[in-house]
Amino acid sequence: MSYKVLSRKYRPKTFEEVVGQENALTVLKSFIKTDSIPHALIFCGSRGVGKTSLARIFAKTINCNELRDKKICVKCSVCNEIDENKSLDVIEIDAASNNGVDQIREIIESSNYSSINCPYKVFIVDEVHMLSKAAFNALLKTLEEPNKNTVFILATTEVEKIPPTILSRCQMINFKTLSKSSLIHNLENICNKEKISIDKNSLSLIAEESRGSVRDSLGVLEQLMTSLNKSIIISDARKILGATSDQILFEISKNLLESNIKECLTNYDSIYKSGFDSKKFIHSLLNYFRSAIYYKLGIENQIEDIINIEESQINELKKYDIEIFENLFDQLIKLYEMCGKTQNIKFLIESNLIKLCLMANYLNFDEIINEEEVNNKIRQSQEDAVKINKKSTQSKETGPTIKKKTPKFPANELNESNLIKELDILNNENSKLLKSCDIKIQKNKMTIDTKNNLIYKILNEKVRLAELQDTIEEIFNVSITMSILNSNELDKVEDSDDFKFQEKKDKLFESETMKNLFNTFDCRVLDIEKDK
Ligand SMILES: [Zn+2]
Repeated sequence: MSYKVLSRKYRPKTFEEVVGQENALTVLKSFIKTDSIPHALIFCGSRGVGKTSLARIFAKTINCNELRDKKICVKCSVCNEIDENKSLDVIEIDAASNNGVDQIREIIESSNYSSINCPYKVFIVDEVHMLSKAAFNALLKTLEEPNKNTVFILATTEVEKIPPTILSRCQMINFKTLSKSSLIHNLENICNKEKISIDKNSLSLIAEESRGSVRDSLGVLEQLMTSLNKSIIISDARKILGATSDQILFEISKNLLESNIKECLTNYDSIYKSGFDSKKFIHSLLNYFRSAIYYKLGIENQIEDIINIEESQINELKKYDIEIFENLFDQLIKLYEMCGKTQNIKFLIESNLIKLCLMANYLNFDEIINEEEVNNKIRQSQEDAVKINKKSTQSKETGPTIKKKTPKFPANELNESNLIKELDILNNENSKLLKSCDIKIQKNKMTIDTKNNLIYKILNEKVRLAELQDTIEEIFNVSITMSILNSNELDKVEDSDDFKFQEKKDKLFESETMKNLFNTFDCRVLDIEKDK
């Protein structure tokens, strides 16, 4: 027997063999049960989730010679012919290659003749959104006056490209992207049948690589089988698939959390040089971060699509504050979206890794505050700085002993430039925070203005505020009141009417109604102006 690729060998032939897609199955079975077969169906869903396979099964069920209890026999001539795509009554067309109006006319003409061997003539049009406008119009005429016993099954990955006039004449069946666990379950079954030994991590990796597509998951498994034969282990699987290993994802995550800019960039550079797809890498990192958050919260078992992370890595990552995770996760989502839009992905990722490190740095202070040792070091350096400065600027003064709390400057010398100089010397987390802000001092009132929402949040914490006050009082002989402002320009913009208008406009342009309108009339709206 000739060799069949896995996706063909394990292509489902009965309703029972279909993986996932419970909703689609329920609807299709109910048509058969009630003997009410629609003239036109739309199967929509992403690639490789089983649309054409299920279309064939449906065609077999309504045509099988030896149907029992509404179940197909799988062995009669009709079933066999449909499975082998040789049936004269069940015709598959790939609109991606036959999108011309002539081909559609041929189909329509042939739909006028009644079926030869089967009760129903079935046309399965794959990638139907690729049809030209004229072809859609021709199809529309047929759908408006459907032939008795003719069924059109239109499969598509992009339903929004199908004219509403067509959509309104079809029964819509939605196919869902498969969950990681159902992909793994299916892969496990196939590996058992093929006598392949494979570890859990490899199964998990294949499922992650195939993003919800059964066909892709079998393709990936096949790729591994070709190189590794009947024994697949995770380290080999990663090499072949060019997947970023958990170890690298762990390292780069840790470096982000620790604000190690240099190490982060080196990590990414080695990933880039090894030829790994950068967007895919950000996606993996995003997945890793997401999963780490769930592990940290201890609910990893209750959530779908969590990647396996080694216990040692989890224990290490658990040390970090959930807030840092959340913020980095949020930024990574934005970065991933930007990846699809840029011409220069490497620069984009580099600049964002730096940004993420700086952000984590501002958030990373809790750890430092809690560590007595580090705290003492900061105090020591503070005292040293005070001593040195005393010597150089106030040499007249005798009695070198400086007590810890002795202010360095008299109250009237508290001003912006003196403060900034002192913050430079201090160089601790608090001083870094303050230096990133715009500071204004009037007598003993101090206004700290930041454009960064995150820093604003940190500065407003009671403990933080008290610390800052203490620091300043230790340097300047003055008690002060502090007010923290957030002059985030972006926020202001977002609140403005113009911004809201633009946002609404963008949403309208992206809406399905507009897309359908553009498609139907072959037109485009250039702009919408605000009535002033
Ligand atoms: Zn049959």
